[in-house]
This record gives sequence, structure tokens and C-alpha cells, in this order.
Amino acid sequence: MRLVLVLLLLLTAALILASFVTAAPGTPNEVGRIMILEYHKIDYPEDRWTRTPENFRRDLETLYVRGYRLQSLSALVEGRITVPAGTTPVVLTFDDSSPGQFRYVERYGKLEIDPKSAVGVLEEFIREKPDFGRAATFFVLPAANPPNRLFNQPEHVTRKLRWLVEQGYELGNHTLWHANLGRYDETVVRGQLADAQVWVQRHVPDYKFRTLALPHGVYPRDISWALRGTARGTSYHHEAILMVGGGPAPSPFSARFDPVHLPRIQAIESQLGHWLTHFDKDAADRFISDGDPTTVAVPRTLRDRVRGDLRQPLRVVER
Ligand SMILES: [Zn+2]
Repeated sequence: MRLVLVLLLLLTAALILASFVTAAPGTPNEVGRIMILEYHKIDYPEDRWTRTPENFRRDLETLYVRGYRLQSLSALVEGRITVPAGTTPVVLTFDDSSPGQFRYVERYGKLEIDPKSAVGVLEEFIREKPDFGRAATFFVLPAANPPNRLFNQPEHVTRKLRWLVEQGYELGNHTLWHANLGRYDETVVRGQLADAQVWVQRHVPDYKFRTLALPHGVYPRDISWALRGTARGTSYHHEAILMVGGGPAPSPFSARFDPVHLPRIQAIESQLGHWLTHFDKDAADRFISDGDPTTVAVPRTLRDRVRGDLRQPLRVVER
């Protein structure tokens, strides 16, 4: 009788241990999903479309502590995941170029980045935690009415855009003035996309957008108009199109990855909290890097989720 009890106890212990091992955070799973976070205003007060600088700072701390590291949107689209082993890539996006995203202030006669603007908060956090990485995409509006025209402060626009690009941040197309692309014919749609690039190139010569975030999440009648083309002598090419919502994005190595329909998560308290809890609980759904950008590490049970057309020379490693 006692022997049976001991055996039962041992079996239970083994089962608990086994479940812990398979769900252990840090086990590489490069077909798990990735959060592309979508911020709008960084300002006061906290609102549906506004995150305060303090709450934004708290988001970064939470992400860092829970093992997330910044990855650029381009790297995600290319399937070039470079975050360290055991960590999860996360992509930051900022829509609508509102003033609180990037503001200069004058202090003691010197121009400096407002520490309460999104860029200021992010840069300060990166200084404290350099291993968090540095990446974000700003979906800007070059011809919107103020205050959404390229972060407001017209006298500093060139300086801001160049600074962002020099630091490795990305600029993305969000049309010229937030046009609802579902409402217009082909000529207007293409004009909006090409002109947005031309207007940004006045500040950063030759800069080419690689990604497009749809205003209001609305696709044009024909998706090909948004992907590539030429209008008024300017050619544009978007490798990815981002939506307004939809949850975490499939891994770029997953058969479900669709760069033309990339979902995002609105970075508000409820959504962020929901998905952070979800990924803490469901390790199989969470992308965890193996630290090697040339391999795709997958648990054996998830092997069939890998896409058949992996970019060369990527190779699959079963874990
Ligand atoms: Zn927008």
C-alpha cells in the first residue's frame, strides 16, 4: 500500500515537472506570435487614444521585465529576428505624428528632446536598459492639419525626421493626410501614397517607406494599389500593410504570416494587459527567440506550422 502511494507521488511529481519543462519560459519557439503595439497620442490625460508619458514608461518596464525586446518592423517583415535567446520580439508603432510623440524643448538655450514625449521616454529607457534594443516605426502624416503634421513644430521637422532615421527608427506611410483609402478611386489612392513619400523626402532625401499603416484600418478597393506603383513620377513599394487591430501577428516563419494583413494591438491598458497575461500563460503561442537569426527553432509538436517557403539560407531546428 505504502509502495503504491510512493509510486503515485513520484508519478505526480514527474507529470508536474514534465508540464513545467514543456511550458518553461525561455524554450525557443519561433513560430509563436508577436505583438505589434500601436500607440497614438502620448499626452495627458489618459484616454482611448492617449497614453500618458508615465504609463508609456510603465509599458516599457513591463515589457522589459517580462522578457520582451525591441525588434524593428522591417526586421520582422524580413524574418530577420535578432533579439537574444530566450526573449520575445515586440514591435512599437506610433500613428498620426502627434506632438507628444516627438517634441523639442529649449532648456538653458539648448534644444533637447522633451523627456515627456514618446521619443524622450523611450530614449531614456534605452539608456538605462541598453539590452532592450532600439526600434520603433512612426507612421507620419506629412500634410495633415496641425497639430498632426509631422509632430507639429514646423521649424524642427527636418531635424526630427533625420534624427529618427539616423538613430535607426523607421518612418512609415500613413497617407498624406489620413485619407480613408476605401473612399477614393485609384488615382487618388496612388497619389496619397506617392505624395506622402515625396513630402518626407523633402526632409530626408531619398527616404523610401517600406511599410504602410492604413488610416482607420480601411483597405482600398483594390489592394494592389496600396502595394506598389507610380504616381506623378514617384514610385512606391510597401512590403507590409498594417491594420488597426486584430491581436498579435503570426511569426514571419509561420505559414499564417501575411505581410499584407499585419494585425496590431492597441497599446491601451486593457488590451496590453490582456495579451501580456495570455503570453505568460500560453508559452506555445508566444514567439521565443533562439538567439540565432539564421535558424528557425521550433518545438517538434509545432513543426507543421512552419511555412514551406522560408527565405534562404534559414533552416529549421527542432527542439
Ligand atoms: Zn491614424
